[in-house]
Amino acid sequence: MKTEILKALKNSDTYLSGEQLSQKFGVSRTAIWKYIKQLREEGYEIESVTRRGYRLLQTADRITASEILSRNQASWVGKSIEYFEVTDSTNQRIYDFAEKGREEGLLAVAEEQTGGKGRRGRSWVSPPGTGIWMSLLLRPKVEPQKASMVTIVAALAMTKAMEKITGMEIRIKWPNDVVLNGKKVCGILTEMSAELEEIHYIIVGIGINANTESFPEDIQDRATSIYLESGKKVERAAFIAEFCVQFEQYYERFLEMGNLAFLKEEYESYLINIGREVKIIKKKEERVRKALGINELGELIVAKSDGTTEIIFSGEVSVRGLYGYV
Ligand code: ATP
Repeated sequence: MKTEILKALKNSDTYLSGEQLSQKFGVSRTAIWKYIKQLREEGYEIESVTRRGYRLLQTADRITASEILSRNQASWVGKSIEYFEVTDSTNQRIYDFAEKGREEGLLAVAEEQTGGKGRRGRSWVSPPGTGIWMSLLLRPKVEPQKASMVTIVAALAMTKAMEKITGMEIRIKWPNDVVLNGKKVCGILTEMSAELEEIHYIIVGIGINANTESFPEDIQDRATSIYLESGKKVERAAFIAEFCVQFEQYYERFLEMGNLAFLKEEYESYLINIGREVKIIKKKEERVRKALGINELGELIVAKSDGTTEIIFSGEVSVRGLYGYV
């Protein structure tokens, strides 16, 4: 209801009276007033003028549940949302929700993360107000070995969403980085709770540098934002909604097919290192190989200098360009 009222206010350039709203939504004027109060508490500036009604003054770039829900056309991904002004990590929030039995498709979104996570214990810089820090809860009925495929699905869905929202050329650095002009604009961290043969749930954590204006020195050489590259701010809620739609499509297809053969070609068309030599880094050990593409499990196929091929699993390695991040 709150979302519906927000939508009505957004779509109106004049005042909407309490009476009009209460008739439109079939609830009392007091109820309308309560929803308006809640929206104000979420940060919306809603003017109210006696005998005229309510008017939305500014639409700040907010990523509250109402903002995202009012745009999200997906059928189940991100249709229930938990919003946090500040939290340690949205993956951690989803973990807690998952343990309490919350539903698949639940999305946790935060304006700021104080303990954003990367792979293998690394951290993810998540300052307030400009980025998109979110995590999605999934409960796929597939074998645990297939969990890493969800990262590939998410990376492709994110790339498509970003391409659509920005009109820019987006690339993927296998397996989980989304790259804009040679730098990392989005990272994906998939975590899982499973037994030997059964997945309890998967958490897909996503960090997007949407409107970030600067980065700490130690990651400046490899991190960028959509704003820094395009000079334009993106509407974050619309972006999240677009991702939900894209992800739902690819993920449902993945569940149907049971592997990634259906997206291999498309994923490879975005793969930044394809056909080039890359460094495969595992702990302190480095190997140089030519990246050929992915297989239907989402693993990276590389060639040695003698032409023989090898399969690289995503869990343990980092892939880098020979002379820098890509
Ligand atoms: P690799 O390229 O080594 O495989 P990765 O993709 O696995 O790395 P993640 O674990 O996904 O990396 O992300 C953590 C790393 O990303 C950090 O170690 C840091 O270098 C970098 N990083 C941290 N915060 C951000 C950010 N907001 N934007 C871009 N890069 C970041």
